[in-house]
Amino acid sequence: MNRLQQQMKQELKSKELFDQVRSHAFEYIDGVETMDVFPSESNLEGLTNFDESLQQNSIAATQVIDQLHSFGSPATVAHTGGKYFGFVLGGTVPVSLGVKWLSDVWDQCGGLYLTSPINSKLEEVCERWLKDIFDLPKETVAGFVSGTSMANLSGLAAARYQLLKNLGWDVNKNGLNGAPKLRILAHEQVHASVKKTLTMLGYGTNSIEWIPSDDQGRLQVDKLPKIDSSCLLLLQAGNANTGAFDDFDTVCDIANRVGAWVHIDGAFGLWAAASKELSYLTKGIEKASSWAVDGHKTLNTPYDSGVIMCRYPEAFVNALQATGEYIIYSEQRDPLLFTPELSKRSRAIELWATMKYLGKDGIDQMVITFHQRAKQLEDGLQKIGFKILNDVVFNQVLVAGDSDQETKQVLEYIQNSGECWLGGSTWQEKSVIRISICSWMTSDSDIEQTIDLFNKAKKK
Ligand SMILES: *Cc1c(COP(=O)(O)O)cnc(C)c1O
Repeated sequence: MNRLQQQMKQELKSKELFDQVRSHAFEYIDGVETMDVFPSESNLEGLTNFDESLQQNSIAATQVIDQLHSFGSPATVAHTGGKYFGFVLGGTVPVSLGVKWLSDVWDQCGGLYLTSPINSKLEEVCERWLKDIFDLPKETVAGFVSGTSMANLSGLAAARYQLLKNLGWDVNKNGLNGAPKLRILAHEQVHASVKKTLTMLGYGTNSIEWIPSDDQGRLQVDKLPKIDSSCLLLLQAGNANTGAFDDFDTVCDIANRVGAWVHIDGAFGLWAAASKELSYLTKGIEKASSWAVDGHKTLNTPYDSGVIMCRYPEAFVNALQATGEYIIYSEQRDPLLFTPELSKRSRAIELWATMKYLGKDGIDQMVITFHQRAKQLEDGLQKIGFKILNDVVFNQVLVAGDSDQETKQVLEYIQNSGECWLGGSTWQEKSVIRISICSWMTSDSDIEQTIDLFNKAKKK
C-alpha cells in the first residue's frame, strides 16, 4: 500500500471524518430555521475562499470538510427550512435524508440488477406504488431519473419513437433525416424544460404548433386544431406560476380517438392525484401515454429524483436503448433499460423510503397541507391589500401590489430581509411575486410571519 492508500484506509477506519461531517450536519439542521434564508453578502463573499489553485499534495480529509463547512454551509440557500418559497423546490423528509446517508455509504451503481439488487428491487416497488397512487394503467413502466427535465426527455423520446414507428419509420435505424413529419402541439405555458427537451430531440421551437393558453395558463381546448396520429400533445399538471392543471380528460379523449400521444409534465402537480380533496385536478391523467413527475419537489425527497412513466413499455425501452447491445441483462429488473443513463445513482432508495414512511394518508396530508397554507397566504395577503392574480387551486400563489413598482419594492424588501425568500416573475405582462408552498416544514406560523413581512414591506 502506498502512503495515500494508507491514509485513506486510516480515515475510513477511524471514522473521524464522518463524525466531523455528522457534527457539522447536525449544526446545520439545528440552525436551518433561523439562518438567513438566502445568504447575506458577507457570507457570499466567503465563497472567494474557494478561488485557489489545486495544491500539489494530498491533505487531510478533515481539512477538506472544515473548509466546506466554514465557507460552504453559510452560502447555502435554506430551502429545507419553512420559509423558502422560491421556484418550486421542496424540503426533505427526514427519513429520506437518513436513508440517503446510508445508501451513500453503499455507493450502489444502480444501472443493473447485477450491480445493485436492492436498487433493482426498490425500483420495482416504487413503480408499483406510483402506479397505484396516480391510478395509472397496469402496463405502465417507470424509469428513475435525475428530475423532470430528464423524465420529459425520456418520455418524449418514447413518443417520437412510437409515433414515427406508427408512420412506418424506425428512428433508431434511420434517424431523423428524411423522417415523416411529426406534429408537436404545445400550449404557450408549457415549462421551459419541455421546450428544451423538444429542441434536444430535434424539434426546434419553430416546428411546434403553439396553442393559446387561458388566463390561468391552461391549454384552451377549443383552440386545439384538428389532430391526427402524427401528433404529440404536451400537457401540464401544475403550471409553475399559477399551479393550474390542463383539462386532461377532454384532451386525452380527443387524442386517443386518433392515436395521438399525450405527455403530461406533472413535475410537482401530478401529486394532486394523491390527495382525495385535490384529485379532481388530475381527472383523466390515466388516459395519457406518458407522465413526468419529481420526487424532489412536492414529495420532499432529496434532490436527484425524477420519474418517467410510460404506458408503452416497448416504445419506452426501445427509445432509450437504441444502441445497448453489449449490456448484460438478467432475469430481474435492469434499471438502465428505463433511463438514458448506464451508471446511475440508486435514487429509488430515497423515493421508496419517503413513500414507505408517509403511507398513502401521509402523502395526501402533505399535499393538502401545502394547499391549505397557500390558501392561508392568499387570504392574509388579500386582507392587507395585495392582489392575488391566480386561482389558488394547488400550492402556487401569484401576488401583486398596486403597481409594478410596488411589487418590485416589496419583493426586494423581502428578499433582502433574509427572513424568507420568494422570487419574482412576470404574469400577463405584470410584475408578480411568485410563491410556492412545498416544504413539509412550512407551518401556519411561518405563513403568518410571511404575511407580516409583506405588511412591513408595503408600508416602507
Ligand atoms: C421543475 C419543473 C420541471 C423541471 O424539473 P426538474 O426536476 O427541475 O428537472 C419541469 N416542469 C415543471 C412544471 C416544473 O415545475
